[in-house]
Amino acid sequence: MAQNRKKIVVFGSIVHDLISYTSRFPRPGESIRGNSFHQGAGGKGANQAVAAALLGANVAMIGKVGDDIFADFNIASMQKAGVETSAVEKVAGSTTGTATITVSEAGGENSIVVTLGANLEMSPVTAEAAETVIASFRSAGILLCQAEIPDAATKKAFEIGKKRGVTTFLNPAPGDPHLDQSMLAFVDIICVNENEAKFITGIAAPNPAQAEKAARAMLERGPMVAIVTLGPQGCLLAERSDGSSEIVVSLLPAESVTAVDTTGAGDCFCGSFVALLAAGIPLKEAARRAVMIASLSVMRKGTQSSYSSRAELTSSGF
Ligand code: ATP
Repeated sequence: MAQNRKKIVVFGSIVHDLISYTSRFPRPGESIRGNSFHQGAGGKGANQAVAAALLGANVAMIGKVGDDIFADFNIASMQKAGVETSAVEKVAGSTTGTATITVSEAGGENSIVVTLGANLEMSPVTAEAAETVIASFRSAGILLCQAEIPDAATKKAFEIGKKRGVTTFLNPAPGDPHLDQSMLAFVDIICVNENEAKFITGIAAPNPAQAEKAARAMLERGPMVAIVTLGPQGCLLAERSDGSSEIVVSLLPAESVTAVDTTGAGDCFCGSFVALLAAGIPLKEAARRAVMIASLSVMRKGTQSSYSSRAELTSSGF
C-alpha cells in the first residue's frame, strides 16, 4: 500500500454496542435469560475512523460521548486503532450513545434500540469549534461524515470543509428518509447502500442496473462521485468528469466469501475507501480494494474487531 499523504477527519457518531444473544425474543412484559453477552465499541463514525486508521491512515475523530462508564471504553478502542481523539468531548450529564441489541439465535434476527445520547449534542457550534481540526487538514484532507448525528451539525462541517478546501465524503447511514439533502451541495463523494439509495433518490438499488440509475440521480445533486455498495455483489462507482457532462460508471464485484457476520461491512468499506484515497490510490482502484477489504470483514464476527489491519493485509499478500 502506498505511503499516506492525506489526513482524514471523521465528524460523526460514537455508539456503545450491548449485545445479548437469546434463544428467542422476549414478549412485551416478559423477562428471559440470555445465552451470552458481548459489548463493543461502535457507532458509524467511530467504526469508519477505526477502519481507516487500521490501514495506516492519519485519522482524527470529532465526536461526543457521555460522562459514563462507556465513554473511556469507546475512546480507548479508537486510540488502540491509532485514531487521534483529542477532539472527542465528554459531555457532563449526558450518556454515551448506546445500541441495545438482542440477537435471537433461533433465526439469527436482531432487534436494536439505539439511544444516541451525547451524539445528539453535536451541533453547528461543534463544527465551528472544530474548524481548526478540519482546517489543519486543508487542501490535502478528507472529511468523512455519516447520518447518525443531527443533520445541521453535519451540514455545517461540510460547509467548513468545502470552504477550507478539503474533500468531503458522505455516507448517509443509517438511512433516514428525512435527511436534509441540501447538504449534498457540499459533498464531493457520496456512498450509499441499497436502502440509502432509495431514501436519497427514490430508486431502490438491489442490482447493478438499478444502482447505476440511483448513482446518476445522486450525481445530479452535487457530488462528483457516487458509490452504491451492493453487499455480496460489490459496489458500483459513478464519476462525473470535472467540467464535462460525461459520467464514467464501473462495477467492482466482490469475491465470493462465506459471510459469518456482515455487521459494519458498510462502515469498513467507507473507512477503507477513504484511507486508500488518502494514500494516493486512484478512485477506481481504491473502490476495488475497499470491496475486497470489506468482504474480508464479513468473514469474521464483530464490527470493529472484524476489520483488517494493514499488517494483516500485507502478510496475506494484499
Ligand atoms: P452493513 O449495514 O451491514 O454495515 P451495508 O448495507 O452498509 O452494510 P453492504 O452493501 O451490505 O453495506 O456491504 C458493503 C461491502 O461489504 C460490499 O461492497 C462488499 O465489499 C462487502 N460485503 C457485504 N456483504 C458481503 C457478502 N455477503 N459477501 C462478500 N462481501 C460482502
